[in-house]
Amino acid sequence: MGKVWVLGAGQLGAMMRHAAMPLSIEVQPVDFNQSQEVVLAEEDVVTAEIELWPETPATQTLAAHPNFANKAVFPRLADRYTQKQLLDELNIATAPWQLVCEKTESESLFSALGDTVLLKRRTGGYDGRGQFWLKQAEATAVPEGWHNEAIAEKKIPFDEEVSIVGVRDREGNMFFYPLTLNLHVNGILMASIAPLERLGKLQKEAEGMLRKLLSSLDYVGVMAMECFRVGDHLMVNELAPRVHNSGHWTQAGTSISQFEYHVRAVAGLPLANAVVKGQSVMINLIGVARDNRWIGVDAAELYWYGKEVREGRKVGHINLTQPSLSALNSALGKLKPMFPEPYPQVFEWVEKNLP
Ligand code: ATP
Ligand code: MG
Ligand code: MG
Repeated sequence: MGKVWVLGAGQLGAMMRHAAMPLSIEVQPVDFNQSQEVVLAEEDVVTAEIELWPETPATQTLAAHPNFANKAVFPRLADRYTQKQLLDELNIATAPWQLVCEKTESESLFSALGDTVLLKRRTGGYDGRGQFWLKQAEATAVPEGWHNEAIAEKKIPFDEEVSIVGVRDREGNMFFYPLTLNLHVNGILMASIAPLERLGKLQKEAEGMLRKLLSSLDYVGVMAMECFRVGDHLMVNELAPRVHNSGHWTQAGTSISQFEYHVRAVAGLPLANAVVKGQSVMINLIGVARDNRWIGVDAAELYWYGKEVREGRKVGHINLTQPSLSALNSALGKLKPMFPEPYPQVFEWVEKNLP
């Protein structure tokens, strides 16, 4: 079996490599700026841990390989304009939107989308970066440099944020994990909970939407769909053509993690149905210094990315899975005092949302 090359050398590629080890599949992440020549074999496959990358000798070599999975999907989903067009074409509910053109003024956006409008840069935004709120009451104008470079979205008064991660193989077989409940603070994911019985009634709708996307794109691998829950229905916020932060809980909470699924799919291996074990919680580590007391807590599984700690930067995550809620709550209770602000509120959100 050939190697699986990953475009990008961040934590997602590293976790794919880790997940593929028991299967003895070699996963090789590649830094965009790697100077060492990338030499691929005919039977190798290429995937990516990110949807947009700079043109460099390394990325050009990888992207030119005939076995680059979902090659045409990346540019289509990396641009919010074409991503939103795809959702509309497939009749998948999403926040009402408009392209911010050369001449678009905020007044026309207010009359089309309401008195509070979210501008999102078409490409490159993540963790809430590349967003700008326009408020009619404050007569906010479209900032300089955002014309032609952004879409405008209606503000959705959602009840909560959920996501679904699914995988499709080359033959069209698919598997979907249960919906995950997510807490975002200032546009950045802080914690996830899965599975949740109360979200079960939305599972069919979520799977239907993602199934339609995966099939229509003839997609191979893992895709994540972030949604807003508005009453009893879902509205797609955005899509990620890759493994996703809100699927990290599957490393501890299921028999086949999203990382292993992605490797299986792109390598042409059988998928099978992952078994969900117990109750899982994932706590994202954002701009916090490593604290080894964390791994002294039963069930706490730390993934530390080895990056320099900076404010607002994702530097790791902790997964917790327990068969009983009381054991999970006890672990969370021990972790909570080990964290600085604003984590007490994150733990409170988790406690409040666990069954
Ligand atoms: P990610 O890191 O998930 O890729 P991102 O920077 O690409 O994030 P979005 O997911 O589009 O950005 O938005 C970030 C967060 O902003 C959402 O999770 C949600 O909390 C909020 N948000 C986004 N769009 C809207 C909207 N139309 N109405 C209200 N809130 C929104
Ligand atoms: Mg995003
Ligand atoms: Mg998002």
